[in-house]
Amino acid sequence: MFDVIISGGGPTGMMLASELRLHKVSVLVLERDAEPSVVVRSLGLHPRSIEILDQRGLLDSFLAEGKQYPGVAGRFAGIVPSRPAHLDTAHDYILGIPQPVTDRLLAERAVELGAQVRRGCELVSLEQDDSGVTVELSDGERLRSRWLVGCDGGRSRVRGLVGIEFPGEAASTEWLLGEIEVTMPPGELAAVAETVRRIHRGFGIGPAGDGRYRAVVPAASVAADRGVPPTLDEFRTQLVAFAGTDFGVHSPRSLSRFSDATRLAAEYRRGRVFLAGDAAHIHPPLGGQGLNLGIQDSFNLGWKLAADVGGWAPAGLLDSYFSERHPVADDVLTITRAQSELLSPEPGPQAVRRLLAELMDFDDVNRFLAGKVTALGIRYDFGEGSDLLGRRHRDIPLAGGRLYEHTRGGRGLLLDRTGALSVAGWSDRVDHIVDLAAGAGSILLRPDGHICWTGDDQDNLTRHLPTWFGAATT
Ligand SMILES: Cc1cc2nc3c(=O)[nH]c(=O)nc-3n(C[C@H](O)[C@H](O)[C@H](O)COP(=O)(O)OP(=O)(O)OC[C@H]3O[C@@H](n4cnc5c(N)ncnc54)[C@H](O)[C@@H]3O)c2cc1C
Repeated sequence: MFDVIISGGGPTGMMLASELRLHKVSVLVLERDAEPSVVVRSLGLHPRSIEILDQRGLLDSFLAEGKQYPGVAGRFAGIVPSRPAHLDTAHDYILGIPQPVTDRLLAERAVELGAQVRRGCELVSLEQDDSGVTVELSDGERLRSRWLVGCDGGRSRVRGLVGIEFPGEAASTEWLLGEIEVTMPPGELAAVAETVRRIHRGFGIGPAGDGRYRAVVPAASVAADRGVPPTLDEFRTQLVAFAGTDFGVHSPRSLSRFSDATRLAAEYRRGRVFLAGDAAHIHPPLGGQGLNLGIQDSFNLGWKLAADVGGWAPAGLLDSYFSERHPVADDVLTITRAQSELLSPEPGPQAVRRLLAELMDFDDVNRFLAGKVTALGIRYDFGEGSDLLGRRHRDIPLAGGRLYEHTRGGRGLLLDRTGALSVAGWSDRVDHIVDLAAGAGSILLRPDGHICWTGDDQDNLTRHLPTWFGAATT
């Protein structure tokens, strides 16, 4: 009997496994594929995900393998504003890092923290009752856990098995993506690529490192099963159809398909089964948000599930995962649809694009859109109170280190600016640091770094602690 079984060992599943292990929850990750995928889907991380890595002490390993692109985070539909948005973060950059590296670093972390990971294990069916979930693997083995989380991607088996609706738009266009070698000389290839790209926005080819190229080309039609990769012949045929040449492609490291299907799960929980990441939402990769969204789902869900397993979850905590994260995904789908329109070469969308570019000269508009793209603008609804309530706190220097260095353990944190506050009764769940700073109020952070209380009054704090951290221990 595990506390939590996670179906799917992609970035969402591995992030969730780590978050749960911080609280010593017993976790099993089931991953269908025997080997990690070499397909480079995501190319980068946005500032909020970078902050999350920093909050858990993971950022150095990502920085060592990625490349920072300052001044470009938060760009909307590729529009270059006349002034940068000046994001309120210590990490105002995009971190370029190929998805297989992200996946590997997250998987290494989960294992290091004690998660069990079984590769080559496909979940094929499940049954749930009041006390837990029984899952069956493709070889007939049955396993049981208190909770199951489907982090099994856009075609989620878990979502289908529990019958959660996945409304939205079906794929209208499909693209083929390949990492390949070419025989065409680089100069000639760059010239052809530039000419074709001017006419076909869905086409692209450029160096991917290791002497290989990354190529994207529209498919002839939407495949019946996108899980079946294209053949090299199919890839060549489409390159010729769009570019008039196949660039001499050969020796693919990976070939895959993706589409513009856009869908959002109607529920994120059915009984003892949750969904996270692509299992809960899919959209075209434009804007580069899917993986970021998945990591952030897990950051939201992990401590809540751990609280339930630990026996201190207050009423409604588990359901706040849906009420907080579903609107965020809905918003990402909206801005992805909007950005797709703004990239259309048609005169109408181009006119809207010109107008929006002018509007983005207003700092408020620029910052508002950047807040959505980077996820720094998210504000969960924690009710009446300070404007800070529900927002994540940026990293700040403190007398003893940085704020984020105090959040590594995934616990709540009281940043006490008075030296007179106490979390007695909750000190097994909430850390307390005192940093006297004139003019700054005290704040209480949830384990995901969102501000759930501000003030200086102990009675008020004591009344608020149970909302997020359950009953006091005596
Ligand atoms: C071309 C392209 C470019 C992209 N670029 C970006 C980008 O720049 N930035 C960004 O944030 N996102 C990007 N994305 C999106 C990103 O790749 C996904 O959002 C991300 O991989 C989702 O992570 P996940 O863990 O939720 O799902 P997945 O990565 O799909 O992982 C799901 C895992 O579940 C496993 N699985 C499936 N079924 C079962 C089963 N029955 N039993 C056990 N295991 C199972 C699968 O093998 C897989 O390993 C891009 C996507 C594409 C296609």
